[in-house]
Amino acid sequence: MTRPSELSPDEAFATLMAGNRRFVDGTPEHPNQDAVRRADLAPGQAPFAVLFGCSDSRLAAEIVFDRGLGDLFVVRTAGHVIGPEVLGSIEYGVSVLGCPLVVVLGHDSCGAVAAARQAVEEGIPAQGYVRDVIEKVTPSVLAARAAGHTEDRDFIAEQIRHTVHLLLERSNILSEAMAEGDLAIAGLAYRLTDGIADLITLNGADHVGAAA
Ligand SMILES: [Zn+2]
Repeated sequence: MTRPSELSPDEAFATLMAGNRRFVDGTPEHPNQDAVRRADLAPGQAPFAVLFGCSDSRLAAEIVFDRGLGDLFVVRTAGHVIGPEVLGSIEYGVSVLGCPLVVVLGHDSCGAVAAARQAVEEGIPAQGYVRDVIEKVTPSVLAARAAGHTEDRDFIAEQIRHTVHLLLERSNILSEAMAEGDLAIAGLAYRLTDGIADLITLNGADHVGAAA
């Protein structure tokens, strides 16, 4: 059994960011992590957000947003690069599970972005399918360089914006859900040292003016 999340896109975004604040402040509530919640969820899930982030082990989704079982539908790849299975998984979270929010979660010191920069700047090739990841991050590296950026955070922000753009460009399901007011897509940059998830871009929510 599945049912659409009862939260609006705005409420889902506020709920997610409130959890990050608790995590940052060192006052986590660890919601929805007990045996009752576990049993309640057995018949079906109704997460309130799709969390599409980098695979990096330092940004575990439920921990950094202080959430529990059944809250987040999580998809992760190195550098949050996109392929058909990723798009299908995110679309499933939105169209079948009814998530009102998709979050792209990048972070500073991202190895995938660093490797893509190294490939561009020093011509160091990647082996095997790692090359696939590098090649998918490369357009963001080139765009950031063309804009004159040199700081790590600017390359990370570009890859986050690029990923949000690709989701909307490639997926009719996502762009149509957003056009109908049923979905917001946010891009967040996670800071490893203090745990803060900074807003990079927010699309489809009422308080879009808050987007950087
Ligand atoms: Zn990363």
